[in-house]
Amino acid sequence: MSSLQVKLVKCLSDNYSYIIYNPISKNALVVDPAEAEPISKEIDILGLKLNFILITHHHQDHIGGNIDLKNLYQCKIIGYEEDASRINGIDIKLKNREIYRFEDEEIEINFAPGHTSGHVFYFFKKNKFAFVGDIVFSLGCGRIFEGNSSQMFNSVMQIKSLPDETKIFCGHEYTENNLKFCLAFDKQNNDLKDKALEIKNLRKKGLPTIPTDVLSEKKNNIFFRCDNPEISTNLEMRGETPEKIFEKLRELKDNF
Ligand code: ZN
Ligand code: FE
Repeated sequence: MSSLQVKLVKCLSDNYSYIIYNPISKNALVVDPAEAEPISKEIDILGLKLNFILITHHHQDHIGGNIDLKNLYQCKIIGYEEDASRINGIDIKLKNREIYRFEDEEIEINFAPGHTSGHVFYFFKKNKFAFVGDIVFSLGCGRIFEGNSSQMFNSVMQIKSLPDETKIFCGHEYTENNLKFCLAFDKQNNDLKDKALEIKNLRKKGLPTIPTDVLSEKKNNIFFRCDNPEISTNLEMRGETPEKIFEKLRELKDNF
């Protein structure tokens, strides 16, 4: 059983990039390099060999380091076939649901549009890691830029349907703001009050709130809880479908 390590790297103002590596073989890959410098610094400190870059979507704050890292390490860039024209330096184009092997891990690429039309997430089946880019955040979900609410809802539900213990690694530290929104429309949720304390303690020390996991998001993330009757009542939308509740919440969050 492989046990890959994940090193979170802070980039730009609130982005997270991730280095995933085998501490024995030193082979590594990076997910969504926002910029090259902080990542190459970590790679050199850890003495790693960067083999691959995985890209969740084409936004600049997720691919900004592609070319510099490729020049430095001759690594290969992997992304979704259908969005290849927007991913700088792409070498390996994967189809939806294709498995890519790294060390003894099986990485599954999953198409999940809504934030962008070519967004994917990567599920590491053995280690139960999900690298979700801007689909889902701790206590939130991505803005809808190129899709519609129904696509985004289905994409968020794909993450929700992963095993409970799956660790979720997202693209940004937005948790404190997301928490305020969840508290406003999910007041009766006692789990959320505990989560709020946890988040405040971490942020006070300047620590990341990531990774989160599927179980925690099921309990706390309002966008995972669109089937909860108390939330529908709070929105004065009793009896509406989870998808309608989701649409309303995304709209409210855009103007929060
Ligand atoms: Zn984005
Ligand atoms: Fe982003």
